[in-house]
Amino acid sequence: MVNLVKVREDIYELPIDSKPGMLVPGRIFLSDLLVKDLEQDAIQQVANVATLPGIQKYSMAMPDAHVGYGFPIGGVAAFDMENGVISPGGVGFDINCGVRLLRSPLRFEDVQGKTDALIDSLYREVPSGVGSESKFRASEDVLTQVFNHGARWAVENGYGVKADLEHCEENGEMKGADSAKVSRKARDRGKPQLGTLGSGNHFLEIQHVEKIYDEAAAKAFGLEEGGITVMIHCGSRGAGHQICTDYVRTLEQASRKYGIKLADRQLACAPLTSKEAQDYFAAMAAGANYAWANRQMISHWVREAFNKQFHTDLKMDLVYDVAHNVAKYEEHTVDGEKKKLCVHRKGATRAFAPGRPELPATYRDIGQPVIIPGSMGSASYVLVGAQGAMEMTFGSTCHGAGRVMSRSAAKKEVHGNEIKRELAERGIIVKAPSAAAISEEAPEVYKDIDEVVEVVHRLGISRKVARLVPLAVAKG
Ligand code: 5GP
Ligand code: MN
Ligand code: MN
Repeated sequence: MVNLVKVREDIYELPIDSKPGMLVPGRIFLSDLLVKDLEQDAIQQVANVATLPGIQKYSMAMPDAHVGYGFPIGGVAAFDMENGVISPGGVGFDINCGVRLLRSPLRFEDVQGKTDALIDSLYREVPSGVGSESKFRASEDVLTQVFNHGARWAVENGYGVKADLEHCEENGEMKGADSAKVSRKARDRGKPQLGTLGSGNHFLEIQHVEKIYDEAAAKAFGLEEGGITVMIHCGSRGAGHQICTDYVRTLEQASRKYGIKLADRQLACAPLTSKEAQDYFAAMAAGANYAWANRQMISHWVREAFNKQFHTDLKMDLVYDVAHNVAKYEEHTVDGEKKKLCVHRKGATRAFAPGRPELPATYRDIGQPVIIPGSMGSASYVLVGAQGAMEMTFGSTCHGAGRVMSRSAAKKEVHGNEIKRELAERGIIVKAPSAAAISEEAPEVYKDIDEVVEVVHRLGISRKVARLVPLAVAKG
């Protein structure tokens, strides 16, 4: 049993002596309600991450935290560029899994009675499911460009508009990506899947803006009450998964080579100054770019499907696209000193406060839009990055509600068809490949999104801007 100490409202600390080898304490951002949902194993993982060389300030977990591979999902850890490490476990297998939000000029009234047809056409136009293949045939050359240039490749090839790129983290094109660091196997897995949603937790959702909390930020993000939005959640498919698999192996060897004692084998890592680390970063960035191109192509098909339904060219602007599984080099102030760090966010979202140069000009005075999905039966949120994040969490916040029930438990305990019926009664249409797919993703397998968001709002790491509620969901 690891002891969490409540240091103040919404902040629990894991003392530095909780486990031998911890270099910093752990910090988990939780309300008293959410503490009960947190698994002991996730707390243990926060302690394990605290033993990694060069870790700064705290090994952190957000209120949506749950057990992951090595690092907890919902984990944030920043490392010194000179003495620190990079770890694929701190990024996750779905490299640059992320969320984007499209706004539309449509109002709730405009889609009433049409959500069924709309979600059907989205389901048709965007291939989904385990191992699904795209309707787009990527050549070797295209694949290389996608790994190196991400969403820019997509926009330059007719999938979307230039403004889309300005509204992606990294402009949808992470620097330092190198397709030459991606294995043949990862290419082969990625090639047929470019432009597919994937399965399980990934989704397309038609939503309506139910409530605005922050008028100024909502205005900057183009959101108003009663408006219709589309949320897209997916990542880098088999390509990213294979990149992670390949480099876990490489970095396991590197950990031994550089004499890094691992509290858990899944924390395989390498010193940021090593060739192994630099190779992994270049491959991870390529995986991230694949995910951005993927979300960009899907957005294009979403726009086409909407235009077809409404027989007009609807302006569906990208509000923003966030990466919630990624490691990035960023500058942060640590104990009053500016420092370049490698920030790992695994199931965590960047939440930069106003003024950061990484933000697009349109949002620089407002702060970064943060997109937080809830579940197919609950709300989702748009937040805005705030100063507290720069001071407490290396500019990070939560990424969703977070699981409370495993997939296998959900399959036994939750009945997909019943959920589908219940949601339909509430006016939410769910399209999914099977009843089992719905049970694994039912609202009850996730924590209470309203509570999770309340915590990050109260902490001042990201503020509530808008509450979105689902009208129709397509699950992979
Ligand atoms: P992850 O990337 O960790 O798999 O998922 C991120 C979050 O998405 C989950 O923690 C959950 O809160 C949310 N989520 C999962 N399925 C759905 C869905 O169908 N609709 C919405 N709006 N959110 C979902
Ligand atoms: Mn994912
Ligand atoms: Mn995700």
